[in-house]
Amino acid sequence: RRITEPIRQLTDISVRMKDLDFSAKYDGANRTELDILGRNMNELSQKLEETISALRTANNDLQRDLDRRNRQEEMRQDFLSNVTHELKTPLTSISGYAQLIESGVVSQEDTVRFGHEIRRNADRLLTLINDIIRLSELDSIPAYEKKEKKEPVDLFQIAVTCADMLEPSCEEHGVTIKVEGESTPVLADRTMLDELVYNLCDNAIRYNRQGGSVTVKVGDRAISVEDTGIGIAEENLKRVFERFFRVDKSRSKKTGGTGLGLAIVKHIVEYHHAEMDTKSVLGKGTTITVRFPEEPAGYSEDRRDTP
Ligand code: ADP
Repeated sequence: RRITEPIRQLTDISVRMKDLDFSAKYDGANRTELDILGRNMNELSQKLEETISALRTANNDLQRDLDRRNRQEEMRQDFLSNVTHELKTPLTSISGYAQLIESGVVSQEDTVRFGHEIRRNADRLLTLINDIIRLSELDSIPAYEKKEKKEPVDLFQIAVTCADMLEPSCEEHGVTIKVEGESTPVLADRTMLDELVYNLCDNAIRYNRQGGSVTVKVGDRAISVEDTGIGIAEENLKRVFERFFRVDKSRSKKTGGTGLGLAIVKHIVEYHHAEMDTKSVLGKGTTITVRFPEEPAGYSEDRRDTP
C-alpha cells in the first residue's frame, strides 16, 4: 500500500491536470521519493494554475481592448461615410444649379431662384464643415488642457446674451424666449458654454410650434432649456446625442440642422464633468438640464480676478 497509494494519487493528479483541473492535491508527508515527487507535483500544479489564470486575465484584457478598438474603428468609418454623404448632397445641388445657369437657357427669374438655392446650399456646407471641424477639435483636446482653460463664467449672463442673439430666429419661427433666474457663476470654458447654451436654445426654437415658447432657467449651478415643441420619443432620447442622428431628417435640414449640435453639446458636458438630464413628452415639449459640478476645493480667489 505504501507504494501503490502514492502512485494512485499521482496518477489521479496527472489525469486531472491533463484536463486543466488543478483541484487534486497529493496527500502524504513522508520522506520517501514518491512523497517528494507528490509534493513537487502539488507545487507544479499550483504554478500551472496561477500561470493559466494570469494568461486568461491577460487574454480577456486584450480581447476587451480589441473590442473597444473595433468599435472605435466602426464609429470612425460610420462618421466618415456620414460626413461624405452629408457633404455630397449640397455639393451635388450646387453643381446642378450652376450647370443649368451655365447652359444659358435659364430665364432671368429662374437664374435668381437657382442663385438663391446655390447660396442656401453653400451656407449649409459651411455650417456643416464648421460643425465637423468643431467636433474634431473637441475630440482632440489633450487631457492636461481641460483644467487650464476654465474660468468663472456667469451662466445667467450667457443665457441672456444667447436669447438676445436668437431673437431673429424666434421671430422667424413664431416662438417667444425668456430667461429666468439669477447670476450663477460656474467654472467653465466660456466659448464652449456659449456653444452649449446656443445649441440647446437653437433646437428649442427650431423644434417648437407656431406660438410656442422657450424658457431658460438658470440657478443652483444648472441651466435648463424648456420648450413647448414637438418633443422626442422615448426610444430616440439617447440617440439624439449621436453624430448625424436626426429624428426627422427633412425637418432638421429645412431648419438648417446638421445633426451635430447635440453631439457637440454632449462633448462639452463631458469636458466640464457636468451632468445632463433630458426629459421629453412627444407633442408637448422637451427640457434639457445641464448641472455643473461644485467648484473644486482650493480654486484660488486670485484666479477669479484674472480676466
Ligand atoms: P440638428 O442639427 O438636426 O438639430 P442636433 O444634434 O442638434 O441636430 O439634434 C439632433 C436631433 O434631435 C434633431 O434632428 C431633432 O430631431 C432632435 N431634437 C433636438 N432638440 C430637440 C428639441 N428641443 N425638441 C425636439 N427634438 C429635438
